[in-house]
Amino acid sequence: MIEDKNEQRTSLGDLGEFGLIDHLTKHFEITQKSTVKGIGDDAAVLDFKSKQVVVTTDLLVEHVHFDLSYMPLKHLGYKAIMVNLSDVYAMNATATQVTISIAVSNRFPLEAVEELYTGFEAAAKIYDVDIVGGDTTSSTTGLIISVTAIGEVSKNDVVYRSGAKPNDLLVVTGDLGAAYMGFQVLQREKEVFKVNPNNQPDLDMYTYIVERQLKPEARKDIVKLLKDLKVKPTSMIDISDGLSSEIIHLCKQSDVGAELYENKIPLDPQVISTCEEFNMDSTTIALNGGEDYELLMTISQEDFPKIKGNPNFTVIGYMTEKERGMHLVTRGETLVPLIAKGWNALKDQ
Ligand code: ADP
Ligand code: MG
Repeated sequence: MIEDKNEQRTSLGDLGEFGLIDHLTKHFEITQKSTVKGIGDDAAVLDFKSKQVVVTTDLLVEHVHFDLSYMPLKHLGYKAIMVNLSDVYAMNATATQVTISIAVSNRFPLEAVEELYTGFEAAAKIYDVDIVGGDTTSSTTGLIISVTAIGEVSKNDVVYRSGAKPNDLLVVTGDLGAAYMGFQVLQREKEVFKVNPNNQPDLDMYTYIVERQLKPEARKDIVKLLKDLKVKPTSMIDISDGLSSEIIHLCKQSDVGAELYENKIPLDPQVISTCEEFNMDSTTIALNGGEDYELLMTISQEDFPKIKGNPNFTVIGYMTEKERGMHLVTRGETLVPLIAKGWNALKDQ
């Protein structure tokens, strides 16, 4: 579906491992004060002075986490960084460095790896993080990407999953379910394309949801906004697996219960119309779809006036005593227990 724009195919074998690393990384710039030494030695050297350091890693495996038949390599590189930065921001921290490790088979020419790096670099530049290292090796099967992100946060600002209290408000940023519906559209187009390769997809109606799947953005802006508004969430997590399982994580780690209001869940109109088209329930998609990379947090009621009316935040419920359990309050005002159903579970249906 996505045409290979790279006519030229330079074999990775011709370059060798060191030639490849050098070719891909020699022009990387360092902008963070905390980076003392980036790529080029046995290890990077970082100096965070009195700040606390957060570290997080994700592994992306071809055919498990991504499908190159509709995921352009540039977008994949970008997304691999976003997935990690989202975890840093969920700690209320600032992302400062990443390391990138790739295992690549020789079915990929140099030009393909360059595309992937264009995505890594674009993300690093836009989100202001230094690429300070990584590892490069060969793979006999698919492409594997592992990104580690490093960030800094002062001791008083760090937010864990464990601080929610009964009566705290449950707040989410942005809207939910779009990445999953984008995935549905891309999967359908892939099947159509298999039957008739001349059939070019018309994705105009689905621009927002497809972009949310292919080019997600991590919510760096929210960390700054919370600081500006002088709101420190009592707990926070990023939404990678779906609202339901993230609420359950916050509840379990904070020892509280929660009530989530179905009619408060923020949905983009494209999600609603695409759900109708696919005969899917938009609440189920928001609860279980995953890959939204929004932030889910709890804030104390006192802080409500500070976020009230801000379009970045939606209050979707509140935390309760643990004994009350974890429920969705439906539009018909019935209580339905929340269950964890991750992204993979849905994907396999
Ligand atoms: P070593 O043999 O110590 O593992 P390498 O030759 O693999 O060292 O790496 C040399 C330098 O290049 C190191 O600074 C390493 O972090 C960096 N590096 C290696 N692979 C990558 C990559 N895929 N992306 C970014 N930096 C890399
Ligand atoms: Mg190495």
